[in-house]
Amino acid sequence: MPELPELDAAVAQIDRLLVGRRLHGVDVAAISVLKTADPPLADLTGHELTGVRRRGKHLLLDLEGVTLVMHLALAGWLRHHAEAPSGPPGPRKGPLALRMVWDDDSALDVTEQGTRKAVALWASTTPEDLETLARLGPEADAVDADDFARLCTGTHSHLKTVLTDQTLLAGIGNAWSDEVLHTARLSPFAAADGLGREGAVHLHAALREVLERAAQGLTGLPLDRIKRAKKALLRVHGRAGEECPVCGTRIAEVSFAERSLQYCPTCQTGGRRLSDRRMDRLLR
Ligand SMILES: [Zn+2]
Repeated sequence: MPELPELDAAVAQIDRLLVGRRLHGVDVAAISVLKTADPPLADLTGHELTGVRRRGKHLLLDLEGVTLVMHLALAGWLRHHAEAPSGPPGPRKGPLALRMVWDDDSALDVTEQGTRKAVALWASTTPEDLETLARLGPEADAVDADDFARLCTGTHSHLKTVLTDQTLLAGIGNAWSDEVLHTARLSPFAAADGLGREGAVHLHAALREVLERAAQGLTGLPLDRIKRAKKALLRVHGRAGEECPVCGTRIAEVSFAERSLQYCPTCQTGGRRLSDRRMDRLLR
């Protein structure tokens, strides 16, 4: 799932390519993509893209009074065409979820791999009131050490949950949370309120370090190179069976909440292997 660092890199690219352009039309490949009825997408024709930003794991395109809010779900990503492909996007068999065509005849597509289609689009004059945005906690790259420590001491949740629950902290998902916990040398299943202030400040420093490392690796990349570059930057996530770059131990994997996370048993859990928590519904 696209998270804060790769979405920020995408925001910079969309800003460079499309801000100042006028929207020619938006096509959704399936009606299920669009979550709002008012204002209708057809009304946006002719509106200028005045800004692009990110909130949590959402992209926001500001179009003169109306904001298009996009959530790319698990497998969504963006593609820019200097020249829009001809014809409408058609029925939703392929990866195309929605297409925005601009006045220079370029197009920005949202694509989604796999069979589970979950990309979502909202059009709103007051985006901050949309439930999908109103529920979000503070941005992971904006929260300071004190606020982060308060967040940790205020919950019985596991660290993995604190980092990924969007209502507590917005922008970080399964991949970068694995990286943060590895950098901090903490178990994903450690209790947040057991960290104490010092432990929480240490975890916050790891969060900042990982986000800075990610930004350095992704900033300036074109849209079609960001996802691959992200994969290359990950040290433990998605690397079960490979050697930990810090200590050489084989990276382990454990299931939780229908997903899996990766960690280094030596760096993070005192050599212990975590047991399967598939049933724990860790990600609320
Ligand atoms: Zn290690």
